Amino acid sequence: MERCYILFGSNMGDSDQIFAQACLLINNRCGHVVQVSAAYESEPWGFEAERWFLNRVVVVETGLAPEALLQQLLDIERELGRVRHPEIEGYASRTADLDVLYYGDHVICTETLTVPHPRLHLRRFALVPMCEVAPDFVHPVLQLTQAELLQHCPDEGLVRRLENEE
Ligand code: AMP
Repeated sequence: MERCYILFGSNMGDSDQIFAQACLLINNRCGHVVQVSAAYESEPWGFEAERWFLNRVVVVETGLAPEALLQQLLDIERELGRVRHPEIEGYASRTADLDVLYYGDHVICTETLTVPHPRLHLRRFALVPMCEVAPDFVHPVLQLTQAELLQHCPDEGLVRRLENEE
């Protein structure tokens, strides 16, 4: 079993509801969800978007191999990304993004998967929730804790913890 950190992001549709579904599906298909961060809203990063993102980190104990985990997450993304528009036949916009931030302390670099996620140390919206769930977890390549990565992060994007969370 490996402890994995997965970042959920959504800025379309009912993001809270989509997150709840994502969590159930992750728990059913990927392993045991042992912890979920609070909800954060974050400024869109690198592009203009109408809505801020909802971000959360999900901590999963998984028996799946990294590629199998990724495949499950991509399937879940696809299933949750299908928002029905009554006026359009079929489906439109993607509404959920699931990134593997860490797979234990493994370093993986294949055609389809790079872990630790190659941009996580550059993004406050990933580091802020990581610091809530595992501030002392050490990045296996950079050899810095999440708290240290956040301290050194050049990103100035705003990330706000939503207060009405348990
Ligand atoms: P995006 O939709 O921009 O998040 O990109 C998804 C694609 O990135 C997937 O099809 C994966 O093959 C690839 N990928 C590479 N590394 C990762 C990772 N650590 N987590 C999720 N997707 C990854």
